[in-house]
Amino acid sequence: MDAEKRKEYARNYRATHKEEIKAGKKRYTESHKEQKKATDHKNYLKNQEKRKASAKLYRAANLEACNQRSRDYHEVHKEERKNHRLNNHVIYWARNSIHKHRQAGYNVEFSADQLISMAATTKHCSICGQELDWSGGKGRAGWNSPSIDRIDNNDILRLDNVQIICRHCNTTKLDRTMAEFVKYCKMVVDKFSEATA
Ligand SMILES: [Zn+2]
Repeated sequence: MDAEKRKEYARNYRATHKEEIKAGKKRYTESHKEQKKATDHKNYLKNQEKRKASAKLYRAANLEACNQRSRDYHEVHKEERKNHRLNNHVIYWARNSIHKHRQAGYNVEFSADQLISMAATTKHCSICGQELDWSGGKGRAGWNSPSIDRIDNNDILRLDNVQIICRHCNTTKLDRTMAEFVKYCKMVVDKFSEATA
């Protein structure tokens, strides 16, 4: 068989055995995953200095363009960064809220992820309606910072018997049930409506 014929034979073989070849490649990749990872890592380490040096050269030659790109990137991802900070704060808040209630002896039946989902849809205090501050600023928590509250006084916390309320309401309500708290508020309203009538 001459060279041309061999080439043509190979071409035909590839054309008629497409699926087998594909499957064979896939099998090979699967069974050599670890080797590939090791080789890639070895090459990565080997070329580290080289990469650093050429990046440095490139940056020196294109300083203004590089700075502009970094300013553009910063601007484009502003919202993302803000959301990232916010989301991480909510994650921290959720884990901490669950932890604190467990420490206090309550049985918490929902996960942090479930509480995070609840937080995502709770923009306002479930009692007074004031907008909640989810920004998680540093320092002492503000009066409209969110906290979880038990609607009844069950020792088991479930998604259907907790609500997210502001610190003002939580400090006022303490461990009263919603029914007791509403009764108390009504007493205050009645007393002062009489006084101002
Ligand atoms: Zn409130």
